[in-house]
Amino acid sequence: MPVRATKRGADRTRLQRDCDVLVCGASFAGLAVAAELAGSGARVLVLDRYEIGERQTSACGIPTGWLAAMDLGASERQRFDELVVHTPRRTARWPLPWSFSTFDYRELCALLWERSGDAEFETATVTGRTGQTVTTDRGELSAPLIVDALGWRRVLSNAEPIQPPNARLSRGLEVHPPGAGRDMELWIDARYVRAGYSWSFPAHDELRVGVGSFWPSHHVKEPTVRLAGELGVAATGYQGNWIPHQLRDATEDGVFFAGDSAGHCLPLTAEGIRTALYFGIACGRELRAVVSGARTREQALRGYGGFSGAHERKFRWLLAVQRAIGQITPSRAVTHFVRAFESRRLTAWAFDQYLAIAPPSYVGAGPGGNSASATASRRIPSSIAGSARLA
Ligand SMILES: Cc1cc2nc3c(=O)[nH]c(=O)nc-3n(C[C@H](O)[C@H](O)[C@H](O)COP(=O)(O)OP(=O)(O)OC[C@H]3O[C@@H](n4cnc5c(N)ncnc54)[C@H](O)[C@@H]3O)c2cc1C
Repeated sequence: MPVRATKRGADRTRLQRDCDVLVCGASFAGLAVAAELAGSGARVLVLDRYEIGERQTSACGIPTGWLAAMDLGASERQRFDELVVHTPRRTARWPLPWSFSTFDYRELCALLWERSGDAEFETATVTGRTGQTVTTDRGELSAPLIVDALGWRRVLSNAEPIQPPNARLSRGLEVHPPGAGRDMELWIDARYVRAGYSWSFPAHDELRVGVGSFWPSHHVKEPTVRLAGELGVAATGYQGNWIPHQLRDATEDGVFFAGDSAGHCLPLTAEGIRTALYFGIACGRELRAVVSGARTREQALRGYGGFSGAHERKFRWLLAVQRAIGQITPSRAVTHFVRAFESRRLTAWAFDQYLAIAPPSYVGAGPGGNSASATASRRIPSSIAGSARLA
């Protein structure tokens, strides 16, 4: 049973806090925003329904270059220079031009939070928003700058909600039994899932074994348990979620959306951690510019919305491949495709293109940086100062 660290009962007092930036969600996207604002002088309040790092949300696989660029290497658990890809007819080893790593979720979140300087954190469940006021189970909070980093539900949107299975969402489920392995393995095999893939990601002393379906109506529990059984590990430590596979507007009605809430998870691969960090940093940089007086909030909304939207073609392309794979599985075409990627040249080209969608070089490219050394306090422009209040 997971140990619940979140405040309960009498500890869940009414929140009373002024802030300039209200970041809702304290996972990859939200923590990246907060870290980017360190030293900006903004009063940053981060909310999540759980304590930071309490609930792992993924298999925690990421290009190693992202851990290095963000100085998060201490959370790394295991590194892989190749991907082992199984189809019903063949097992291929894809030589990667750069490595993937698995990391420890709790440790990575703690490292990111350490970089967030004077930002404050509270556990609260966010339920909705009216204008610049966010409703939580601990009262209402208002702020001139609001970020929704709450994941696929996009809680702070007031647009017509689309619920699964009709929404553009994939579904993923995995187990985290104790165990060890040498390879990062994928299965493209209809025995487990008709359109999607299965995986086993070793993380030193734990395996993360799961199944993801591009078709939301297809259930993944039975194949997850079966795959774990075939790998000789227990189906324990479940975690699962919906995974957005279509980009959505990154701004709406004065609010910034980052990570899964903006559909920033990559279609086809369901890789959403580095993109949550990437767009979280981009969002944080825009907010920082508002705090310093270099931009108005409206300019920042336009700048961030445009930055996110500029990635649409690449996201659409990946979605087209995802749909095509959904059609051809389990034909011979998949086996040919998987075999073709044994070519070092093809793999290098394809994976370099793929990394370039959200490259680690972006981390060092902006003004804010992610380091705790960014401590210079700046005056908050009167246009946003003082307008933050609590009910
Ligand atoms: C089974 C599975 C395995 C995956 N494996 C990988 C992988 O190996 N690599 C990879 O790159 N991607 C992976 N993904 C995708 C990845 O998990 C997401 O894309 C990523 O977590 C998005 O980060 P985020 O910060 O936007 O949202 P999330 O990580 O979903 O974080 C949202 C945060 O908001 C909080 N929250 C949500 N609702 C509320 C509320 N109402 N009130 C308060 N707080 C709230 C949550 O507690 C959470 O902390 C996987 C997904 C699944 C389902």
